[in-house]
Amino acid sequence: MSLSRLVLGESPHQRVRASQTLLAIGIFVLGAVAQGIGAAAGFIDPVALAWLVAYTLLGSLGFYALVRSGLNLHLGTDPSLTLPQALFAISSVSASYAIAGPLRGALLALLLLVILFGIFSLRPAQARLLAAAGFAGLAAAVAWRTLGPGPRYPLLMEGLHLLLAATVLSATSVLAIRLGRMRARLSAQKADLTEALQLNRELATRDMLTGLLNRRAMTELLAQVAQRPPRSAGPLVLALLDIDHFKRINDRHGHQVGDAVLQRFADLARAELRTSDALARWGGEEFLLLLPGTPLAAAETVLARLRERIAGADFGAIVPGLTVSFSAGVSLCAAGEDGDRAIERADQALYRAKHAGRNRVELAAA
Ligand code: GH3
Ligand code: MG
Ligand code: MG
Repeated sequence: MSLSRLVLGESPHQRVRASQTLLAIGIFVLGAVAQGIGAAAGFIDPVALAWLVAYTLLGSLGFYALVRSGLNLHLGTDPSLTLPQALFAISSVSASYAIAGPLRGALLALLLLVILFGIFSLRPAQARLLAAAGFAGLAAAVAWRTLGPGPRYPLLMEGLHLLLAATVLSATSVLAIRLGRMRARLSAQKADLTEALQLNRELATRDMLTGLLNRRAMTELLAQVAQRPPRSAGPLVLALLDIDHFKRINDRHGHQVGDAVLQRFADLARAELRTSDALARWGGEEFLLLLPGTPLAAAETVLARLRERIAGADFGAIVPGLTVSFSAGVSLCAAGEDGDRAIERADQALYRAKHAGRNRVELAAA
């Protein structure tokens, strides 16, 4: 197992989360080193610093352990634990501020960094809460060091620090609101685009009247099937179906009735065929049926059954007493043979079926 997998884990989402917690630990270690130098120089009480380092180290390692063990996935709604981690960091930075003596001004920048960590992933209300918590943490540190026991920070300077922090944190929450709105807009746009893409795909591959595959999708499918390796390929039967005397239906009852007949024909055929069979509206009242993996004899049975089903079906809901039939030409597409040539042969067989009196299925010569 590679080191990165060992440290960050397998799943992409969890890896991002684990690396975020490690980044936080890295920042914390750098901060601890800087404060250690401050302690060596006599600015910071080393005992207080040691306690603070222990607190922050245990806490941040704890977050890493939560993520690395996968426990974060079972805790609340945000598996990144952004808010708890940020609140923990605020507590640590505020405590640093309280012990950092003359170096404490630099910690205001760290406080801002904590808020920035959250601003990209939190909702506006949460980001504002974080800004408020940051201010509250700082105010607590200030209160302790201006009112509490031990050496005190000068009141005026602390007032200025608080004012500065309040300004910067309020500006940050304004930015958080803007970012949140931008995110909401982007995700709404993304949803719209996904929907449009789906519709587009539908339009590109479906015939709108019957819901069957359209000619373009069937042509693509045929090209794909034609590429199958000659040995592994099973038989590929295709059939051209053409509704008999369809022009008459249009002429007698109008184009709308013709359309309804095409729809009903498609529904009946769909119900009769297997899902592995592909049926496309090839044009007008002509349909192309692909029966992959079906031996020729079985395909003939399928078409015979379909022919009987259509001829016996009730189209009376469209026009009382109306019956419909189709003729079909069937051909076997040999492995490696061009699909167009097999269609051509099916078309010739269809022509024969029409001439032989319609409502019948003819087999093409191989
Ligand atoms: P045959 O038995 O020889 O196939 O005769 P036919 O009348 O079915 O064949 P023909 O090709 O002469 O007529 C097909 C008709 O189908 C002509 C055309 O107006 C009609 N048609 C094509 N597309 C549509 C459509 O989308 N809706 C409707 N209602 N009619 C259509
Ligand atoms: Mg016809
Ligand atoms: Mg026709």
